Amino acid sequence: MFRGKALNVGRASGKVTWYIPESDDKTSLPSEMHPDAQWAKLNHAIDEAETAWQSLAKTFSNDASNPSLDILEAQIAMAKDVEVLKQAKHAIYHQGMTGALAYQEAMQGFIAHFEALEDGLFKQRAQDMKDVLARVLSHYYGRHHKTPVFHEDTVLMAKDLHPGILLELIQPRIVAIVLEQGSVNSHTAIIAKQLTIPVLIQVNHLQATFSEGDYVTVDGDQSAVYHDDEFAKDLAKADFKKNKTPLSLEALTLPCELAVNVLGPSDLQAFKSSGAKAIGLFRTEFLPDVTRGGQVAAYQPYFDLDIPMIIRLFDYGADKDAPPIERETSDAQLGLRGIRWLKNQPTVLDTQLHALFDAAAHKTLQIELPMVTTKQEYLWSIERAHALLNARKQTQLPIPKNIKFGPLIEVPSAAMALESYIDVCDFIAIGTNDLHQYFFAADRHDPTVSSLYDVHEPAFLNLIAHIIHTANKYAVPVTICGQMAAEPLSAWLLSGLGKVTLSVPIPTYQSLARQLDRLNQVTQAKQLRDTILSASDTSEHATLLEQLKEVVKSYA
Ligand code: PEP
Ligand code: MG
Repeated sequence: MFRGKALNVGRASGKVTWYIPESDDKTSLPSEMHPDAQWAKLNHAIDEAETAWQSLAKTFSNDASNPSLDILEAQIAMAKDVEVLKQAKHAIYHQGMTGALAYQEAMQGFIAHFEALEDGLFKQRAQDMKDVLARVLSHYYGRHHKTPVFHEDTVLMAKDLHPGILLELIQPRIVAIVLEQGSVNSHTAIIAKQLTIPVLIQVNHLQATFSEGDYVTVDGDQSAVYHDDEFAKDLAKADFKKNKTPLSLEALTLPCELAVNVLGPSDLQAFKSSGAKAIGLFRTEFLPDVTRGGQVAAYQPYFDLDIPMIIRLFDYGADKDAPPIERETSDAQLGLRGIRWLKNQPTVLDTQLHALFDAAAHKTLQIELPMVTTKQEYLWSIERAHALLNARKQTQLPIPKNIKFGPLIEVPSAAMALESYIDVCDFIAIGTNDLHQYFFAADRHDPTVSSLYDVHEPAFLNLIAHIIHTANKYAVPVTICGQMAAEPLSAWLLSGLGKVTLSVPIPTYQSLARQLDRLNQVTQAKQLRDTILSASDTSEHATLLEQLKEVVKSYA
């Protein structure tokens, strides 16, 4: 038996499949192929991209007025632009370029031309062309083909997984995930926690122990993975199915509001059956298709549900890569991330805003700005959104009925200055994952430092209390959406800091609600919570926290 850290509980058995990352080395592509073959390969990639857009368009076929249809058609037309193809063909046959390079050079000529023009519409077109180029190239390089389809229960193993890869790989027959490395606070971990399957990280010697095709059982409750166990296999399946039925939460008395976090289309079904009534964080960085049409297709079904929903703008940077083509991100935690990155890539921001305005036509739209550090950058993005809204009004494009803005507070400076800009906040969100790393100067992806500082340190709780108290004072709604909100002890403490909504991964929602309801009826739990939140002495704090931990555990 091999142990690691469990991100999700539950047990499942399946056949091991190893994910081995491909090399990104594009120079190894077959440049010596005959020009006819290069040309055919390029056309094949374009045809495949077209088929993908058409199948996306089918999801709107019962709504002919849907703006996504026009957008998708425009993308197909851009991909097959006669002038682009003429130039690409010339480069293949007369300059010996590969199909991909020739197409890229031709498209980039037009992109650069449109980008140089002052008119915002042309800049938008340049952005759309970049999306089209990225999609065609991904088909050319075979990325869209290489996602394997699993026909039997599969335990996915890897040394580590990038968040985008995890999203591409995940499918119903993957029953568990086990990683040799990984970190509890990484974005891969956050996505994994959204899944209703056991997930283990930091399992030593994984690669040396488990081979492709081995039959294994992954036990999230015991944080263990082990070989061949037929009995455990059947048991795991029975447990897994049993745990999936959601129960009604109507009769519960909760100490705070609860909402859930989603990542896009793949969570829609889970959201509907979760019993949750609101989305506190829609992370958009992992959408499968970030073209304008692709984004509208992802947002629209959620808007159709008419539920309160906070959508965060792309939070690229650090471990979240932006889609390719001139959209470099830095993996530095203190670098160009979130709103800083968007300020550098205004056309990506505009595309996302347009997609949101398209999808939220005549509805309420709540936009969250990631990693706000100063009032100025927060105001800059709101002004940019208003400029687009005005332009849409003039061209009779639909706009939301009501639009709200709020910062995601993840940087201490934004927390400390809150009172100076709260008058321009319709809501506030607190991202405790990043706030923790920036507050303690401890990289969230480095397990050697990220686990040194507890989220229950009085200084950290005081910072969160300051944000909640300020928001409550000005009657601005506040949501906490980091992992801390989903852990019972932390959630219970946070619920004592004021009027707040906790937004948690879907699989945690039901059990957390029940536990908070039970704790809410226990006087000792309330007393301990209130004493901890008002105590400043650290030795007393640690003792009280231990006592509360026991109480919380006993009502699990
Ligand atoms: C956070 O930092 O708490 C947060 C919600 O954002 P993410 O985890 O996606 O960085
Ligand atoms: Mg964050």
